[in-house]
Amino acid sequence: MKSLSYIDVFTPKNLEEALELLDKHRGELAVLAGGTDLIIQLRKSQQKAPNLLNIYMLDELRYIKQDNGTIKIGALTDFATITESPIIQRHAPVLAEAAATIGSVQILNKASIGGNIVNASPAADSLPALYVLNATLSLRSKTGTRKVAIEQFYKGYKKLDLQSGELLTEVSFPAMKQNQIGMFFKHGLRQGDAISVVNGAILLEVLNGYVKDARIALGAVAPTVVRATESEKTLIGQRLSEDVILKAAQACLTSISPIDDVRGSASYRKEMCVNYLYMTLWQMMRMVNV
Ligand SMILES: Cc1cc2nc3c(=O)[nH]c(=O)nc-3n(C[C@H](O)[C@H](O)[C@H](O)COP(=O)(O)OP(=O)(O)OC[C@H]3O[C@@H](n4cnc5c(N)ncnc54)[C@H](O)[C@@H]3O)c2cc1C
Repeated sequence: MKSLSYIDVFTPKNLEEALELLDKHRGELAVLAGGTDLIIQLRKSQQKAPNLLNIYMLDELRYIKQDNGTIKIGALTDFATITESPIIQRHAPVLAEAAATIGSVQILNKASIGGNIVNASPAADSLPALYVLNATLSLRSKTGTRKVAIEQFYKGYKKLDLQSGELLTEVSFPAMKQNQIGMFFKHGLRQGDAISVVNGAILLEVLNGYVKDARIALGAVAPTVVRATESEKTLIGQRLSEDVILKAAQACLTSISPIDDVRGSASYRKEMCVNYLYMTLWQMMRMVNV
């Protein structure tokens, strides 16, 4: 494994200083949060590693708040905190469920939500939940803050709407309504500490027994996380039944374009996607129709 002893690490005392440093060294610094993705990538890369801006000590980016119906999470908040947060459990249980699956105890305690978002793996487990929650990202630079909807942030495989000099500081989304239910699913090759072969999140809004709104996001089956729009259309306006959920699960095939890789073939991923959507919608139907 490659030594990284030659790189310089800048450790700002506060956010202002971090933004100053990012501005001064535009394009030359990689942001280091928990380092659970970045350090592994730097050690594997054939390129000379960049110098680092270590933001891990910036506690001002660690929080979970509820503000007028909006849930706000600081970019450095780790997944153990998100999983255990009463605010997230109550107002975004689909995110608590996704966060709980992220790595082992060590990773849960170290990995940040900001790192998961900016690392931009199509298999990242927080992303489907953040998609169905309609999350917004706050990107700060020395000159101000820009807000970007999470779906607009990803322009292609690991291509982001993030400019040099910008830091992701917060992710926010509306608290789930009383008549919304959400669920997350993840298929890995083993029980713990596994990268998703397929993952996804479903959020349904149900009024008088009928699906008023449906949001479905799927991961690890395309260059970025995708919305299963045909599945959503199949559900909206319907009462959940075995026939409806079967059609909705099968309709996901129009939204995905999986690849073959070491974790599974494209056809295996397609099958898993349909099966997991069917099983998850089945569970949701039981919850709605009781
Ligand atoms: C053993 C192991 C198991 C894992 N299991 C899972 C899993 O089950 N599910 C899953 O989704 N992931 C998993 N991961 C991946 C990883 O832990 C997560 O993606 C994690 O959330 C990354 O966060 P971090 O704080 O460590 O980011 P870092 O590694 O520090 O950074 C990741 C990337 O984001 C950038 N970045 C970080 N924070 C910011 C910011 N605030 N603003 C701008 N750029 C930023 C960095 O420059 C870098 O490019 C696993 C990793 C390991 C090593």
